[in-house]
Amino acid sequence: MTQIKTIVAISTSPGVGGIGVIRISGPQSRKVLKRLWRNRRVPVDNFATHRIYLGKIVNPSTEEFLDNCLCVWMRAPHSYTGEDVIEIQGHGSPLLMEKILSAALEAGAILALPGEFTKRAYLNGKIDLAQAEAVADVISASSEAGLAQAKEHLTGRFSKRISEFRSELVRLRAFVEASVDFPEEDIEMIQKEGILNRLSPIQVALTELLSTYHEGRLHREGVRTILVGRPNAGKSSLLNALLGSNRAIVHHVPGTTRDVIEEGCLLGGYVFRLFDTAGLRKTTDEVESIGVARSEELIENADLILWVIDASSPLSKEDVDYLSKLDFSKTLLCLNKIDLGIVWNPESFLLNKKEKEMLSPISALRGDGLKELQNSMVNWVKRQSSREAGGMRITKLRHKEALGKSLQALGAATNALQQRIPVELVALHLRKAHEALGEITGSDIDEELLDTIFSEFCIGK
Ligand code: GDP
Repeated sequence: MTQIKTIVAISTSPGVGGIGVIRISGPQSRKVLKRLWRNRRVPVDNFATHRIYLGKIVNPSTEEFLDNCLCVWMRAPHSYTGEDVIEIQGHGSPLLMEKILSAALEAGAILALPGEFTKRAYLNGKIDLAQAEAVADVISASSEAGLAQAKEHLTGRFSKRISEFRSELVRLRAFVEASVDFPEEDIEMIQKEGILNRLSPIQVALTELLSTYHEGRLHREGVRTILVGRPNAGKSSLLNALLGSNRAIVHHVPGTTRDVIEEGCLLGGYVFRLFDTAGLRKTTDEVESIGVARSEELIENADLILWVIDASSPLSKEDVDYLSKLDFSKTLLCLNKIDLGIVWNPESFLLNKKEKEMLSPISALRGDGLKELQNSMVNWVKRQSSREAGGMRITKLRHKEALGKSLQALGAATNALQQRIPVELVALHLRKAHEALGEITGSDIDEELLDTIFSEFCIGK
């Protein structure tokens, strides 16, 4: 068996801070600290668990004094990782933190990989995989809604629900397998009905959960909102007006197009990630065609479209074409420049009541109608909410795929039951459904996938 290594990392975020924390985890944690710790009155061996001690931290090779630090030892298994953990709190100077980190490395610890503390917490059974993923989401949440959702996953309420489904599937499988021993037709029929009756609520609940993905993603990643419209319609002006004092830090998700301006704004507790396509069409012909393609791709992938129209000038043919194809379920029509008077009459477009609700007369320049537009944006997100699934939402593509796989297997099981296919096959489908759900909480997962999940964490978490 390989010896478990003792890992170390700076756990506070890079940069200057009041304090900085170095975290050490593993069986040699106290040994590592012993080499750095200078306080004759309280040697590390006399530390009580979960108590804080003040002492000098030095470099073990040179005896260079580094900082006066507060140190705490958390005895395994009562720590974040489930291992012996030491936390050293020093002054939050990046240089000092680096020096203490180097000293810990010299004292025998090795540098932690991204997410390695949380991975160990998972491997030691302190949290399941869905909770581990929620740790990253809590840390990076940039809106109330995103944070509330991440916390719900972190508490394990979501995992518990998944585990309940899994337990019921195990019971059902046992039931199905037992029925192999009762070949008489009547009994078999009754049992099949019973199994179908018990499968159905699971299928309904999983389908409801699956349907929350879109909303869950909006909360976690923010609402991908794209500003489109003819040059000079006022897209950039609207972007600036929306940002105003609502500018939010936006976490970039890998794969987003970078040659379009992306800014984040916080409205009604939600993050809107605003993409301005203003620059895409104003360039030379060749680039323009690329720009148009980009715009189309962005529109396709957008959650919400803000279509900006210069209401003070007549509609172009291009506008008319576009309007007739507009997907009003995800478009807010911004009639801009109303301060110049409205030439374009939206009534002429025979919009129905629902579509009219998506109209916002504004002046990006003067701020008229801006509040109403912002309310419409927030209300749009609220309308995406499903009250199903016990208020729970899924947020990760990985979870969505696992739920989908599970539902597919349950569908196959139902089919097999109805078509009098041998019960052994039913049992097999139930096992697949069970395993797919296990991928969410990490009960059935391979090492490679684990590495991928944790590699997305930052170091020190
Ligand atoms: P974009 O090309 O769509 O990004 O448009 P801009 O935001 O650059 O705006 C084009 C021009 O329209 C600029 O001169 C803006 O000052 C002007 N503009 C934008 N919004 C309004 C508005 O609400 N009222 C008036 N009068 N002018 C506006």
